[in-house]
Amino acid sequence: MSDSDCLFCKIIAGEIPSEKVYEDDTTYAFKDINPKARVHVLIVPRAHYANVAELATGDAGQLAHMVEVAQRIADDEFHGAYRLIFNTGLDAGQSVFHVHAHVLTGEKLDE
Ligand code: C5P
Repeated sequence: MSDSDCLFCKIIAGEIPSEKVYEDDTTYAFKDINPKARVHVLIVPRAHYANVAELATGDAGQLAHMVEVAQRIADDEFHGAYRLIFNTGLDAGQSVFHVHAHVLTGEKLDE
């Protein structure tokens, strides 16, 4: 399941460069090019799902795994504290339609 026009499928395939933070068989994580916190990582499943709702329906275990990866990054970067964001839909700020978790950590975040 992938989409030849999808930016994040191309990043996962190594066709577009990214700064890798973590990877395993199902999941890839890289630094956001426009960071909104000291540490801003995007976690993406290798399989193409448009948004978190589709992922939750199609592969809930993958969604749970992404939370585990977020926790691991925050454990390393900021004593386990982090904000996890899934923008879902154009009007909520989603600009790339391959599900991704924004992990914001590495510093105390504004409330
Ligand atoms: O939630 P949204 O879809 O807006 O998030 C997409 C994110 O992907 C943005 O934060 C943007 O900075 C990031 N991005 C990136 N590398 C790219 C293109 C977009 O990190 N080559």
